[in-house]
Amino acid sequence: MSEPEPRVCTRCGHTRTADEDPVTALAWVSTRERGAVRWLCPTCARQHVRDIEGKLPDEYW
Ligand SMILES: [Zn+2]
Repeated sequence: MSEPEPRVCTRCGHTRTADEDPVTALAWVSTRERGAVRWLCPTCARQHVRDIEGKLPDEYW
């Protein structure tokens, strides 16, 4: 079995560690931008939710 790619928060640079709380690890959020997958740590994801909800999709323009 191969390990998944390491998750690094694209906002604050926080790196997910193997000994991180499983509950916290599940709270990581992945977003896709132009085919690239980006990860947000639980802390940033919580703050970023408002931005996502208030942001119009790029396709709109
Ligand atoms: Zn972060």
